[in-house]
Amino acid sequence: MRAARRPPASPLAWPRRRRRRSRRVGEAAGFLARPAAGEAPPFWKRKTLAEMSREEWESLCDGCARCCLIKLEDADSGEILFTNVACRLLHPGTCRCTDYPDRKRRVPDCVQLSPETIGSLAWLPATCGYRLVHEGKALYWWHPLVSGDPNTVHEAGISVRGRVVSEDDARDPEAHVVEWAK
Ligand code: SF4
Ligand code: SF4
Repeated sequence: MRAARRPPASPLAWPRRRRRRSRRVGEAAGFLARPAAGEAPPFWKRKTLAEMSREEWESLCDGCARCCLIKLEDADSGEILFTNVACRLLHPGTCRCTDYPDRKRRVPDCVQLSPETIGSLAWLPATCGYRLVHEGKALYWWHPLVSGDPNTVHEAGISVRGRVVSEDDARDPEAHVVEWAK
C-alpha cells in the first residue's frame, strides 16, 4: 500500500482555508517493465488498480513526491491550492520519506493510498501514476515504468527535488502557493 496525507479535520490559523497534506505511496519497488513486440501489454494497461500485486502497485508510484506537499483548501469553494511546502519528513533531495515505517505516529495525517481511495482523492496531482491509471490514461514517458530509469521523473522536472521548503521553515503556506505542483 501507499500512503498519503489527508486534510486535517480542524482549520488552521488563516481564514477560509484549511490545510491538506497528501502523500505518498510507499517506497518504490523498482519494478520496471517494458513491453517487447508481440508481448502482452504491461500490467498497468491491462489490470485495474485493485487487481495489481503489491509489487506492481508500489512500482506505479513515480517518486515525484508531489503528494507530500501541503495543499490549501478554500473552506467555502473547496478549491485546492498547491504549495511548495513539504512535509517535515520528506527529504528534498531524494524525494523520499525519511521515516516511512513510523510516519503515522510522527505525521498523523499521512494516509495510506489504496485502490479504493484513489478515485476520491481530488488533490492528487494530475501526473500521479495512480490517478492516471485510475482515469484510464497513459503513463508519461518519464514514468520509471515507461522509461526504465527512476531518474527521469527528476530530469523531466516532475518531481519536487530542489524546489520545496519544509513545513518547519514555512510560516505561512499561503505565501508558497505554486502552479507547478498541480
Ligand atoms: S506518483 Fe507522485 S503523487 Fe502519486 S503517489 Fe507517487 S509520489 Fe505521490
Ligand atoms: S510522512 Fe512521509 S509519506 Fe507521509 S506525507 Fe510526510 S514525507 Fe510523505
